[in-house]
This record gives sequence, C-alpha cells and structure tokens, in this order.
Amino acid sequence: MPALSLAALRDRKCARCQRPYRGKQNWSFKFHGDVLVEIVCPDCLTPAEHVEAALNRAGFRVTREGDQQ
Ligand SMILES: [Zn+2]
Repeated sequence: MPALSLAALRDRKCARCQRPYRGKQNWSFKFHGDVLVEIVCPDCLTPAEHVEAALNRAGFRVTREGDQQ
C-alpha cells in the first residue's frame, strides 16, 4: 500500500457529498496506481463498493475486468 499521511487524509472530503473525512472508519479509498484520487464516505458507497472497500481494508488489491495491470 502507498504511504499516506493521516494529517493529509483528515482534510480530504467525500468525493460525492463533500463530507469531511476526519479519520472515520469504513470510508473507501480509491487509488490510481499509488496516488489517492478520491475518498468516498459509507453513505455514498454502492453495495459493490462496500465489498471492494472491505477487501481493500483486508489487504487485497481489487481489480476490475478490463483493468490493465
Ligand atoms: Zn459521501
């Protein structure tokens, strides 16, 4: 996993509803390569994204069909 500063994360907002992160759990972190592109709060996640977020927290790297890795 990429190295991230928790202080920087706290200033991020949900990409969909603009709610501030503030270090809460169960948010989804979306990466493009090693760059964090957006974070999404649990209220804005789709069921499929909830699964993906859970897998990410467990240490899996989730890829979708068509991804070029
Ligand atoms: Zn949200």
